[in-house]
Amino acid sequence: MSILKTTHLRKYYGEETNQVKALDDVNLTVEQGEFVSIVGTSGSGKSTLLHMLGGLDLPTSGGVTVDGKELYSMKEDELTIFRRRKIGFVFQSYNLVPVLNVLENIVLPMELDGNRTDTGYVRQIIETLGLQEKKNSMPNQLSGGQQQRVAIARALAAKPAIILADEPTGNLDSRTSLDVMGLLKTTGRKFGQTIVMITHNEELAQMAGRIIRIEDGRITGGGETDA
Ligand code: ADP
Ligand code: ADP
Repeated sequence: MSILKTTHLRKYYGEETNQVKALDDVNLTVEQGEFVSIVGTSGSGKSTLLHMLGGLDLPTSGGVTVDGKELYSMKEDELTIFRRRKIGFVFQSYNLVPVLNVLENIVLPMELDGNRTDTGYVRQIIETLGLQEKKNSMPNQLSGGQQQRVAIARALAAKPAIILADEPTGNLDSRTSLDVMGLLKTTGRKFGQTIVMITHNEELAQMAGRIIRIEDGRITGGGETDA
């Protein structure tokens, strides 16, 4: 079963006379454990798509299924809980809490949700991402690449069904971007995590197991799994 599926997904902005078809009949599937990149130029619809996949904004029509559940048939509060449980987000900005150390930042979402932290799992993630020496450091003592690795660790630690990453290395230099992307890939594979990443950077997109191409709100390649 695919962990993520969109069917005839459309998102139009504006009035009829002045309409932008940000997403126009998008059909894609992602299987459990895949690392997929969605690549396209600025304005092609990547952010809009990621928002729809994450249940962050209503589509004009069509559907998004995550782990067997149709997002947009849920009530608002049900969707909020589902999103917190099933979807991890990694953004260009790291959004770390400045007064908490690295370890505290990583386990914070689970504590806020009242879930018990799987300390063995968290330790393995921290080691895989090369953060063991930094566990007790404060965010402002870390480089950008280290801060993004903490944000990735935080997303992974909660064991979401799927991680949605929006230009995760957009604030990093190209060398550091490749390093962080390599770690994201290694860690995702090791923990069987499904990752969907949007980027406009072809070199970074190539690190994924599959590239989905989007142009003017339409999928032009890679939308379906080969299977
Ligand atoms: P990308 O992330 O690939 O740069 P976006 O999803 O941000 O693309 O945008 C796709 C298209 O939809 C663009 O033409 C953009 O101007 C338009 N768009 C995005 N968000 C809005 C919005 N809130 N209102 C109107 N138009 C929007
Ligand atoms: P990026 O592609 O880096 O995500 P954008 O400039 O495309 O940045 O979008 C930033 C935010 O502004 C998004 O939330 C998007 O929905 C919104 N946005 C983009 N284009 C428009 C637009 N034409 N009108 C209103 N909001 C827009």
